[in-house]
Parts: sequence; C-alpha cells; structure tokens
Amino acid sequence: TTQPPAFQFDNTYARELPGFYVEWQGASVPDPKLVLLNTPLAGELGLEPTALSAAEMAAVFAGSASPEGASPLAQVYAGHQFGGFSPQLGDGRALLIGEVIDQEGHRRDIQLKGSGRTPFSRGGDGKAVIGPVLREYILGEAMHALGVPTTRALAAVTTGEMIQREGLKPGAVLTRVASSHLRVGTFQFFAARSDTDKVRQLADYAIARHDPDLADADDRHLRFLARVVDRQAQLVSKWMLIGFVHGVMNTDNTTISGETIDYGPCAFLDGYDPAAVFSSIDHGGRYAFGRQPTIMQWNLARLAEALLPLFDPADLDRAVELATQELNKFPDLYRSAWLNGMSKKLGLTDVQDEDVTLFEDLLGAMAASGADYTLVFRRLSNAVSGNTAPLFDLFEDKAGISAWVIRWEQRRSSEGRPAEEISRGMNRVNPIYIPRNHKVEEALDASEAGDYHLVEELLDVLKDPYEERAGLEAYGTPAPQDFGPYQTFC
Ligand code: AMP
Ligand code: MG
Ligand code: MG
Repeated sequence: TTQPPAFQFDNTYARELPGFYVEWQGASVPDPKLVLLNTPLAGELGLEPTALSAAEMAAVFAGSASPEGASPLAQVYAGHQFGGFSPQLGDGRALLIGEVIDQEGHRRDIQLKGSGRTPFSRGGDGKAVIGPVLREYILGEAMHALGVPTTRALAAVTTGEMIQREGLKPGAVLTRVASSHLRVGTFQFFAARSDTDKVRQLADYAIARHDPDLADADDRHLRFLARVVDRQAQLVSKWMLIGFVHGVMNTDNTTISGETIDYGPCAFLDGYDPAAVFSSIDHGGRYAFGRQPTIMQWNLARLAEALLPLFDPADLDRAVELATQELNKFPDLYRSAWLNGMSKKLGLTDVQDEDVTLFEDLLGAMAASGADYTLVFRRLSNAVSGNTAPLFDLFEDKAGISAWVIRWEQRRSSEGRPAEEISRGMNRVNPIYIPRNHKVEEALDASEAGDYHLVEELLDVLKDPYEERAGLEAYGTPAPQDFGPYQTFC
C-alpha cells in the first residue's frame, strides 16, 4: 500500500511567480528532534497523521527532508529597516515549502524558519536557536487565542547543532503557517528596480489570493491598496488594545494579508507607557508602543509608492492623488477601530463624542502610575459591581482614579445594562492571561537546558486567555520587582 502524502500541496507561488524566488533546499542537520507539534493546527491543514514517522516528521520540520509535493524556495524581498531602505533582503534563513488549502478552504503557506543559508543570507548563518523559535511559537499562538490576526506555529524542532549567539545555543527550526508571506517589501523589491510588469504581476497574484472579489475591476490595484490600508488599520488597533509592541515594524515585516508576522523583539506592555520599547536595537524608540499606528501608515505609504505606476500609468500626479486619498483614510479607520474596541473594553455598547476624553483620561492615569495595562482592564470589570479596591491598588493617585470611576459609572448607567452582563462582556475582551515577559523568559531559559514543560504549560494557559482559572495566579500577575526592566534581543 502506498502512503498518502503528508500534505496536499498546491504551490501557486512557485508555479506562477518565477523570478520572485530561488528554488532552494534546507541544510542537513545532525539530529532533528520534534519539540512541539500544534496538533489542532495540523488537523486544520489536513496533515496526514500516519504519513510520517516521528523521525521523518522531525527531518521535514527541520528542513533536511522535503515532503512529497513540496517546492521549497526562498522568497525575494526588500524593505525599509528602521527607516533606511535595503534593496536586497529575502528569506535569508527561511524556506517556503509549499501551500495547502485548509479545511475552511483558505490557502495557507507553510514556511520553515532557521533551515539554513540561502542566496539571501548576506552575512547571516541561516540558522535559528531555540529561544527565539519558541518565543515566536508562544507569542503567535497567544495572539491567535487573543483574536489578533497572526501567522501561526505548526512545529518546533531542535537540530542537534549548537549555534553561536550570545554564547552557544541549541539550534532550532520553526514551522510557520501564514495566509501568505507577501510583504510590503516584496512589492518594494521590484518597484526599486523599476520593474512595473513584476509589480503588476505580484499585485494581481496578491489580489487573487487575498481580495479575489477585486480581480475583474479596472481600478483593482487602487482598491487593493485600500484593502491593505484597512486590514492594517484593524490589525494595529488590535495591537494597541491588547498592549502588544511588535518591536520591529520594518516594511519587510508588514504583511499584505493583515496578519502579524515576525515575532522577534516583541513584548506585551506591563506598566502602561506609550513610549515603551523592549527591543535592544531600537535606540531611537522608532517602534515604541504609541508610535505603531503612525509607523504603520508610513509603511503603507511605502506600499502605495511601490504600486504607484499601476494606478494611472499616464498621469503620475493623478496616481499620487489617488494613493494619497487612500492613505489618508488610515487615521480615521484606525481611530474608529480603536475607539470601538476601547468602548467594548470598558463595557459600553457604542462610542459617544465625550467618550474620547473618558478613554484618554484613563490612559493618562495609567501612564502616570505605570499601572499594569492588562490588569487595569480586568479589574475594571470587577469594579462594575463595586469591588474597586483591587483596581485602586494599581494607581498611585487614588482620588484621581476614584473620580474617573464615578464618571465611567455615570456613562455606563446611561446605557442601563445590568452589572453582571457588563462584567461578563468585559471579561470576554480583556484577557487575564497574556504572555507575561517574565513567564516567557522563564520558559525559554528552561528550554535552552532541554526542559520544555514550562513552555508547554505556558502554551496551555494562553490557549484560553479570557477565562480565569484556579491555580494560575502566577500567570495573571505582573513580574516581581526584581525582574527589572525587560529587554528583548532578536
Ligand atoms: P528579520 O529582522 O528577522 O525580519 O530579518 C531581516 C532580514 O535578515 C531577512 O532578510 C532575514 O532573512 C535576514 N536574517 C535574519 N536572521 C538571519 C540569519 N541568522 N541568517 C541569515 N539571514 C538572516
Ligand atoms: Mg522579517
Ligand atoms: Mg526576525
């Protein structure tokens, strides 16, 4: 009997876009071992459970064996990194192995990250190590459970190699699933070479994949820009509402799909601070928490520039005008998504004009005290039924927060909903469990020593971020004082 293949690949990128990648194979590694497999996601992708032995699965997810039907390739792209343009980037340590149609009929990329050098590696070793691989796994799965569009983690393997980083670290490969890996930087690569035909071909491919309803429209490229602007406005509003700092919002890390991608030096806020920066390399605070909407609009302007010749080839001024109109919609799209989200976080059913100051005054009080972003919202839901002490504990200015709570009560009572219903609704949008920086670090430290039980426990807690469970207090509280200021390295 012949085994069915592990994946039913249908590789449109490889088939339709020659010139946008190089065919490549993963490096062979001494001792691939499967550390984590995301079984529910594997099921969604139709991964045939009996097709691969444990050893074959480890080799496939390490990149040293190619599953039947795969067409492994390194994608080419460019990108603005910290504001400076790099015309030649690309998958320097990643391989797209193929695409599958999931059980809901959506096309998903399967990509390996850390599978060895490619022609785009520049000075890099093409490798990844266990800490960052598991950080991306944990953060991506947490974001998914929090309802934020994101790439997913399918598997993590160790390779049996030791890799030079800050000391020698165990080598690892992440298998990542995305609705595509098309980036703003993918468009920039061909635009920078004035290859308008390839920009058009890429745009039409992206439209077929993400916005197929636009495919026959004459103004499809402009409407495609509008769709990406909208998706990214929605995405960044979710980051801002949940307290997520991406950390490296380069245009090569900005998707067309509207999914969060490339969890490097990212982190969740602890104490609320719009200037919060966790990345060790973000000296200027370019990617600080509060700057994320502005930066996203800037990144979208780079996409608009790349697409410009498609809008009105005969009249560049007109093309600029059209593109500018779409880009200028970003602030309102972002703002209304954020206001709607904040209104839900505070147990309201709509947004009134005067709510804006209500929301901003709360954030101002939080910033003044460095109050824990996640806990404030969770404790506000208890405050609905009069239990205000735990909330007030988070603020230095008790009179200030108490006065704010009275204003909020007045606003809530204008809607006349029962306290019980309000609290329940708030707890559905204000998580109790987020990937707390100290819990992530603790789990990653253990994993470097080959102990994955804390990673598994953390993943399990984060699967259900809104439901408070007994015995998990350590996952729902801020870092102890001695954890100190948090810095991430990528
Ligand atoms: P990132 O900062 O992870 O978004 O990566 C930016 C660029 O650097 C991409 O082209 C990556 O493929 C490349 N890169 C990052 N790390 C490595 C590495 N260890 N080896 C080769 N290329 C890398
Ligand atoms: Mg990247
Ligand atoms: Mg990275």
